[in-house]
Amino acid sequence: MAQSSPSGPAVAFDAVTKRYPGGTVAVDGVSIEIAGGSFVALVGSSGSGKSTLLKMINRLIEPSEGCTRIAGADVAAEHAPMLRRKIGYVFQNIGLFPHMTVSENIAIGLRLAGIPHDAARVDELLDLVDLPRDFATRLPEALSGGQRQRVGVARALATAPGLMLMDEPFGALDPVTRDQLGHAIRALHDRLGLTTIMVTHDMAEALILADRVLVMDAGRIVADETPRALLGGKGGPVAQALVAIPRDQAARMRALAAESTGKSA
Ligand code: ADP
Ligand code: MG
Repeated sequence: MAQSSPSGPAVAFDAVTKRYPGGTVAVDGVSIEIAGGSFVALVGSSGSGKSTLLKMINRLIEPSEGCTRIAGADVAAEHAPMLRRKIGYVFQNIGLFPHMTVSENIAIGLRLAGIPHDAARVDELLDLVDLPRDFATRLPEALSGGQRQRVGVARALATAPGLMLMDEPFGALDPVTRDQLGHAIRALHDRLGLTTIMVTHDMAEALILADRVLVMDAGRIVADETPRALLGGKGGPVAQALVAIPRDQAARMRALAAESTGKSA
């Protein structure tokens, strides 16, 4: 398929700081390298700077200091609209245009960029996100929340970007849909050879989906570990406090299950 690229680009933050007017230091001297083709989760509590850091990749936010590089090139040197064509971006409540069909919503980026496309390309993108092709003529209001997010993913993939940025992409979804979509995204990542950076406040989701987990706290990266290492107790107190949440839930579920088996026996 024309979609596939062998491996997404590497991404690097080089001493990146973002100071908002008013003085909030949202991102505080972050330096990190993300290998091409990896799936990285960026985890942290609300306000820790995750979205700000992510948006300094596609230049929705410009850093106060430092620079962001994609495949070694400073993003500031590139015309922002050209840059964004090479970067897929999915966020919570993706914001489909309500009066446009699914097909038009998917193709909007291509149309704005003047890239020729046809119904076959839309079909291909619908296939990619496991939506029936006859959804092309529907309006967003005729879709479930999960289906809308899938359209959002198809739209983000339309220009065949090598890099996918996702900011709480499943935030507004029920747990079952969230889980299904998470697995679908990971499968797409593997199949298309993307570099994926996914912001989430949910450590369980990060541990299940990512190759590498970065933990942010007050604008800094305080842990950089594999899921296995985090589960093995590494990463420091902030990371371990986040890992403790799903772990404690799992333990309580096991205790409940044992209790109910005990009672029924
Ligand atoms: P997260 O995505 O982890 O919740 P954000 O990157 O959205 O965190 O925000 C980090 C910090 O920067 C927060 O304290 C937030 O209030 C502040 N902030 C975010 N956007 C702006 C803005 N446009 N102007 C001023 N402060 C902002
Ligand atoms: Mg955010």
